[in-house]
Amino acid sequence: MQDLESLKQKFLRYLAQTSDEPMGVVVERAEGCWIIAKDGRRYLDFISGIAVTNIGHTRPEVVQAIKQQAERYLHTMVYGEFVQDVQVALAEKLVSIVEAAFKRATNGQWRGKLQYYPTNSGTEANEGALKLARKFTGRKKFVAFQNSFHGDTLGSLSVTGREIYRKPFEPLLPDVMFLPFGDVNALGQIDETVAAVICEPIQGEAGIIVPPDGFLPALRKRCDEVGALLILDEVQTGFGRTGKWFAFEHWGIVPDILTLGKALGGGMPLSGFLARQEIMRAFAENPPLCHVTTFGGHPVCCAAALAALQIMERENLPERAAIVGAKLKDALKQLANRYSQIAEVRGKGLMLGLEFVAKEATQTFVKGCLERGLIVGGTLHTEKVVRIAPPLVITDNEIGWAIEVMEEVLRFC
Ligand code: PMP
Repeated sequence: MQDLESLKQKFLRYLAQTSDEPMGVVVERAEGCWIIAKDGRRYLDFISGIAVTNIGHTRPEVVQAIKQQAERYLHTMVYGEFVQDVQVALAEKLVSIVEAAFKRATNGQWRGKLQYYPTNSGTEANEGALKLARKFTGRKKFVAFQNSFHGDTLGSLSVTGREIYRKPFEPLLPDVMFLPFGDVNALGQIDETVAAVICEPIQGEAGIIVPPDGFLPALRKRCDEVGALLILDEVQTGFGRTGKWFAFEHWGIVPDILTLGKALGGGMPLSGFLARQEIMRAFAENPPLCHVTTFGGHPVCCAAALAALQIMERENLPERAAIVGAKLKDALKQLANRYSQIAEVRGKGLMLGLEFVAKEATQTFVKGCLERGLIVGGTLHTEKVVRIAPPLVITDNEIGWAIEVMEEVLRFC
């Protein structure tokens, strides 16, 4: 216990803190849907490290792939110069998965050849997408949505729709217009001067906001009318989280640039963006090397991602998320019927939100769950919504136990 206390003190002393209230679980190991703490306590992970561990924690196939690659080569050269077999294999697999999704979303109509540009984090994927849109269109302006979240580097922050997070870091990118998310009538403000519109198909940090059904098709149509590129940020919604491989499939539209991250690397840092070859070409000329990265597409991360994608395919995790998610949503709705603190249950697949009536109840609920070994969390832009996003491999028994814990906590919050 002495050691644990000293470890916590060192965490506070040596690591930069992001808030005054870290969750503070002291991790020993993690497997499946569980995190095991150094004091022996087990925690059921109902947020997946924020939508990362879709295939579960520390999958042996991923660990094996990492080990094998680590013994062959690590970093050899900056991205884009050397031919690295594992990077090529991952790109081929990812492109084939995304192209298949584009075709499903358009009833087989979509034609084209996608390419993948690998990066290390969600925010970098969005930075690349924004730069690509400017370079390809020759336009400067961006449109984004209120309460969006796209990352914390200066470019992504510029299109993040929450003033309290932007204000302290201004001046940011000029010429960004924020429209209300889900409001079809506002889309007329997107005009011929806009390089790109960046949009999460389901807003995560805003509190799991699903737009009305006509919204994304209307947005696609408006972008086509004015020649603006549509960037869909699926960093959080991608890889089966919402019950489809990608959330755009729910609405039968496809983006010009798709950004991905989080779950892609199976627990390792890997992200990136995909676009048609003719768009991506803009990064290779006038001047060449105008968007480069040292570590993007690191071979060990690519090996892990390839293993993760194979698991998602083999275990049909997008469909599993739809089925299990519907059951979980039902169970949560029953809780909402019995406990008046919960105002609404919403979301798709295993990307769900519990909106509480009062923010105090939200905090008590999250803390109460954690004390009993269930990890749930908030979302960044609202204090009233609890995020429910377990790994897509969660079992009925684990869900049953989580619901029992939530009910126990609801009795007193
Ligand atoms: N876009 C979305 C939609 C996200 O949810 C996040 C992370 N929460 C990001 C971008 C940024 O990802 P990262 O933290 O890997 O930079």
